[in-house]
Amino acid sequence: MTDLLKTLRETLLMGPGPSMVSPAVYRAIAQPTIGHLDPAFIGLMDAVQEDLRSLLNTGNALTLPISGTGSAGMETCFVNLLEQGDRVMILSNGVFGTRMADVAGRLGAEVESMEFEWGTPVDPQLVASHLRENQYDLIAVVHAETSTGVLNPVEEIGKLVRENGALLLVDSVTGLGGMPVHLDQWGVDAFYSGTQKCLSCPPGLSPVSFSARAAEKIQSRKSRVPNWYLDLNLICGYWAGEAGAKNSKRAYHHTAPINMNYALYAALREVLIEGTDAVFDRHLAAHRQLVEGLEDRGLSMLVKSPHRLPMLNAVKVPQGVDEAAVRSKLLDEHAIEIGAGLGPLAGKIWRIGLMGHTARPANVERLLTALDQVI
Ligand code: PLP
Repeated sequence: MTDLLKTLRETLLMGPGPSMVSPAVYRAIAQPTIGHLDPAFIGLMDAVQEDLRSLLNTGNALTLPISGTGSAGMETCFVNLLEQGDRVMILSNGVFGTRMADVAGRLGAEVESMEFEWGTPVDPQLVASHLRENQYDLIAVVHAETSTGVLNPVEEIGKLVRENGALLLVDSVTGLGGMPVHLDQWGVDAFYSGTQKCLSCPPGLSPVSFSARAAEKIQSRKSRVPNWYLDLNLICGYWAGEAGAKNSKRAYHHTAPINMNYALYAALREVLIEGTDAVFDRHLAAHRQLVEGLEDRGLSMLVKSPHRLPMLNAVKVPQGVDEAAVRSKLLDEHAIEIGAGLGPLAGKIWRIGLMGHTARPANVERLLTALDQVI
């Protein structure tokens, strides 16, 4: 029988995620699996939590990686923070805002969405005037909307949410590790991300973080969290979730994905050792190189320049070009993966990711050269 693993070839991942995995992360995954209550593993859990707090610029005690991909982080935030009848506002301008509304709506919350045109950012002035008349328990927004390549103004939104009295929930699955995230300064109460984008890990964990206000809401719920696996009151018995609570007793909840936590540990170390400023500059430089190269070839970007994400570049498909054929040729003939548009942007854009380890000049050059051959 064919060994399917031997049929896999290395692909240059330049889509919306996963991104290229760093060699240090692959080495980390290959370390021996140890027990989830082994003191050596608990030491590594503490280190992961500490590094996450550094990268998120937060003192939040309740900061840990959820076992599961970014969607598990999304679900963790909503199932723990919402109770029947809570009023929720989703500021939505893409697929992941829509998904948030779906997740929140399944929990019996009263969910409203403010919709903004895909490819444009959430407009804080419209949000401000709506919030003057309406009060919410939770307001949610996607920091880096992967479906369109738009950066949303989280800091400005944070001020408005604070005045409203609601909790602010932020998705930065695509932003974390590629651009600054300042949870405390921005007034973010609940946050989730993923490992497979700018952290250069395989998919499998979702870093989350909760402010003291959010943690208090979770602890004082009237009803039990409807989902056992993602109940933070139970998960904290294992992760402790207490800043500096080293050597505290850990209770088994579920078996942690041990080697994925090694991977996240190595990935966070790499980002912090390279230095966050250097890492963010590397993403910006790759983005500028790509945009310049695309514009030289007559291609144009979907998003206006001040609102573009460096790590997710939405490029308009020129008239008469078969967008799917271009992606297939890139993959088959050049071993490069780029992404397609989603929802209303399907067939209209390509999504080119410059995330984490992928965001390097040689990779941008390789893609531009390949595009010259396939378009
Ligand atoms: N939120 C955003 C902004 C994303 O880009 C993604 C995945 O691409 C998700 C949530 C869901 O994450 P996952 O696919 O890892 O479950």
